[in-house]
Amino acid sequence: MTDIQALDKQYVANTYGRFPVEIVSGKGSIVTDVNGKEYIDMGTGIAVNTFGIADDEWIAAVTAQLGKVSHTSNLYYTEPGVMLAKTLCERTGMKKVFFGNSGAEANECAIKVARKYAADKKGEDFYTIVTLENSFHGRTLTTLAATGQEAFHSLFKPLTPGFVHTPANDIEKLKETVAANKVAGILIECVQGEGGVNALSQEFVQAVADICQAEDIVFMVDEVQTGNGRCGELYSYMHFGVQPDVISTAKGIGGGLPLGVCIMGEKTENVLQAGDHGSTFGMNPVCCAGALSIINRIDDKLLGEVKAKSKYIFDAFEGATGVESVSGLGFMIGIKTVKPAKDVVMECIEKGVLCLTAKDKVRLLPALNIPMSDLEKAVEIIKGVIA
Ligand SMILES: *Cc1c(COP(=O)(O)O)cnc(C)c1O
Repeated sequence: MTDIQALDKQYVANTYGRFPVEIVSGKGSIVTDVNGKEYIDMGTGIAVNTFGIADDEWIAAVTAQLGKVSHTSNLYYTEPGVMLAKTLCERTGMKKVFFGNSGAEANECAIKVARKYAADKKGEDFYTIVTLENSFHGRTLTTLAATGQEAFHSLFKPLTPGFVHTPANDIEKLKETVAANKVAGILIECVQGEGGVNALSQEFVQAVADICQAEDIVFMVDEVQTGNGRCGELYSYMHFGVQPDVISTAKGIGGGLPLGVCIMGEKTENVLQAGDHGSTFGMNPVCCAGALSIINRIDDKLLGEVKAKSKYIFDAFEGATGVESVSGLGFMIGIKTVKPAKDVVMECIEKGVLCLTAKDKVRLLPALNIPMSDLEKAVEIIKGVIA
């Protein structure tokens, strides 16, 4: 048998610390490895497989489009991206959508929108983007600059200038930072994912929205991980009763194909004009057809089920043996364990459950439609490992 793990180490860039599992197939929340061993998937490819692996409805939407046209370039009109844009605007109250291929690209677009908005309105020296310490916004040189974690920066300087970081949930510091800089936009994750699955406080999110409104600053929410039903609402900002000027999303919207989305509101809808931005694969009809089927299934009934199952997970782990704390929102859950998180994940793999880490926590990102029986089994196994 071909040793895929050895060939990967030989030929694939050594950028990932992979777990020793070769996945070959799956269905729903069950993943199968090359030896035929099955796992309950509590990571969904990092919040990407919104309805699990090889979901029938998503496959039907994608393959129907594949048989018609898979790519035309953005020189011509195509239906799937238009219908997806219309749906996203109707569901968010936003006005216009730009399509790219990844979360980093969605954030690049958001940052360009904020800078052009500010340059047009206040002048080109208003280019500073405020983001939060411990945030994660992507791996391009600009989104790395936005990412408030020095560990990601050190090898790649100089990064794109014009980014400052301020502590999460500290309204006074935020005000000082805004006062001390010529600010174009503020970019936040309502629940910091890679930073350790920490939800921002209601007061802080409201303060960001209020400051942006008062100072005519572009309010951007990075919904790459938190969005598309993941946190129990279509987008996580909806928990906080605020309305962003720009939403970026990716990961789960594509349901397993690459798609990045930047959604602009009333304040920003006309910032980008012909020639200001572009992407060859952007608005790819196959990705957009799949994404439309995903978004159309994220209704109140499904979100209600996510909230109920989320409560089940919180109740199961809060106060359990070996658990220090549980954080997050909806199906984005972080568990601080007494055992090192990495050890927990490795032991869970042995016992047939795939979960993730985020900083020093075990992170759970199950499929939005995970059957209760699979969820119960996974929780039992993880609890046993943590104890
Ligand atoms: C994953 C992630 C990104 C980057 O997305 P890519 O598709 O890997 O470029 C950006 N922001 C957040 C919050 C993320 O979780």
